[in-house]
Amino acid sequence: MIEGEILEKYLEAGRIARECRDSAAERVKEGEKILDVVVDSEEKIVSMGGGIAFPLNISLNEAAAHDTASPGDERVFKSGDVVKVDLGVHIDGYIADTAVTIDLGRNDLLVGASRAALNAAIGAVRPGVRTGEIGAMIQAEIESRGYRPVANLTGHGLGRYLLHGIPTIPNVGMQGGTELEEGMVFAIEPFASTGTGMVSDSSRTEIYSQISGRQIRLPSARKLMKKVAERNNLPFSRHWYYEEKCDLALSQLMKQNIIRGYPVLHDVPGSLVSQAEHTMVVTADGCIVTTD
Ligand code: MN
Ligand code: MN
Repeated sequence: MIEGEILEKYLEAGRIARECRDSAAERVKEGEKILDVVVDSEEKIVSMGGGIAFPLNISLNEAAAHDTASPGDERVFKSGDVVKVDLGVHIDGYIADTAVTIDLGRNDLLVGASRAALNAAIGAVRPGVRTGEIGAMIQAEIESRGYRPVANLTGHGLGRYLLHGIPTIPNVGMQGGTELEEGMVFAIEPFASTGTGMVSDSSRTEIYSQISGRQIRLPSARKLMKKVAERNNLPFSRHWYYEEKCDLALSQLMKQNIIRGYPVLHDVPGSLVSQAEHTMVVTADGCIVTTD
């Protein structure tokens, strides 16, 4: 059961996440620089008293997740882009994770599919329901609109400084799964795709997190890890700490399994993916959506 001070922290993280998500979404316009939206949105989270749970994700078109501004990124939003803005805020480690899709083209059906799937899923959340049933509802909403749910991305439990915990909430139907219980905190995030409905790693990686605390010899890597330590194992962005030899340090740290990368995840070239995401706390008879 989540109550009192901890619930208050989840709710406060949710309030900040909602406001920062909506103001970031407002900024997504043709000609606007991705880097500017990322920097300003991350600054806004901190100025509102939140911690950045993970770098602001801005993923375009066939990219479903894990893209953000690279150092000196010159990319601007273009007419026709399907833009996912995914944002995470924490208060004392208690996380709100939320995403919205902005359509700079004529893809309102695609954008509506993931949103409708999320709404249906939220309406079904209560103790006793199984995650497999939630996945089936998400799949039905998306397929009824002629798209594919992304089967290898899922919603996930949230814990203190823990971004991807149990339960896993699938975006497709399955037998059984975890039975939801009062007090669980998780994010549900349906993705609808015009492509295959399966994402794979692209060659670009902009987001990393620490996975172990081993000793490091390379001076540039040691310097980088001093800054990364403040993250409490939460993901960080390459552009936050970028300086000379940063990429060498990152590749050394990857090789030594001290950090891991989150490559940009994409469906097939030319496809379009939409996403909608909210965080919720399960109550006795339903749930409180913290990011709505
Ligand atoms: Mn998210
Ligand atoms: Mn998430």
